[in-house]
Amino acid sequence: MAGFWRFIEILDLQPEITDKPGAIVLTEAKGEIKFEEVSFSYIERKKVLSRINLMVEAGATVALVGPSGAGKTTICNLIPRFYELDSGRITIDGIDIQDITIKSLRDNIGLVQQDVFMFSGTIRENIMYGRLNATEEEMIKAAKDANAHQFIRELPQGYETVIGERGIKLSGGQKQRLSIARMFLKNPPILVLDEATSSLDNESERIIQDSLKRLSIGRTTFIIAHRLTTIRNADTILVLTDKGIEEQGTHEELMINNRVYAGLLRTSLKWKSELI
Ligand code: ADP
Repeated sequence: MAGFWRFIEILDLQPEITDKPGAIVLTEAKGEIKFEEVSFSYIERKKVLSRINLMVEAGATVALVGPSGAGKTTICNLIPRFYELDSGRITIDGIDIQDITIKSLRDNIGLVQQDVFMFSGTIRENIMYGRLNATEEEMIKAAKDANAHQFIRELPQGYETVIGERGIKLSGGQKQRLSIARMFLKNPPILVLDEATSSLDNESERIIQDSLKRLSIGRTTFIIAHRLTTIRNADTILVLTDKGIEEQGTHEELMINNRVYAGLLRTSLKWKSELI
């Protein structure tokens, strides 16, 4: 009974962020994203972001780099409106995200996070979660695009294999590929990726990098990047520190600037090893 009451309590909770009266439905966004004087704090008087300005063209890839705690995740979480801004505005194709219904806003955004959520069920069901009305062919194509088809076929029951609590345990890399397959199926114009920092073996890492790169083609992509190859390939690199966006530009531009980014590159042993 205690569990049941707790369950009812949670069902009764009203979300803090709701649609504005008259909010519009965003159908297939092009994906131009603009931050205008965006300030944000989780706790009163402790600003995490202060007057951030940023313009990302539709289809471009932005790599966010900088020390832990600088606000990279926060910037990404503001786009699907997981939190409300203190001031300023964020627009998609020129429309303030506050004027868009939350469902249609989030339908246009795909998230691939480090902690991949898989529920108990078959692999097929876990991929179909990306778009429930997808056909069998579309589901398999998504798995192929995510470089997951091969390992799925090698499992005893293929796509019918049960994963999760009562099923087989997948490796971190395999789970990540399933979540990428979900995103191919969902096919959103905007992507938010959190590149895994956890140690994957070199082979898995190469395969995942390859499918993420393919996934981001033609979509506006924000990526919290940890690998130098990802960063170098981005159209724009945002270097965030506790002072906000300290630098912005391509790898070549920032190397010529010879400031924060170039400094990070010189001191990061991990990146150095990637340069060799
Ligand atoms: P990054 O992704 O660059 O490591 P985050 O965006 O996670 O940085 O965090 C930026 C700052 O906001 C940090 O000081 C962090 O402690 C704080 N922060 C992050 N999430 C929350 C939260 N849910 N509640 C309160 N403070 C938070």
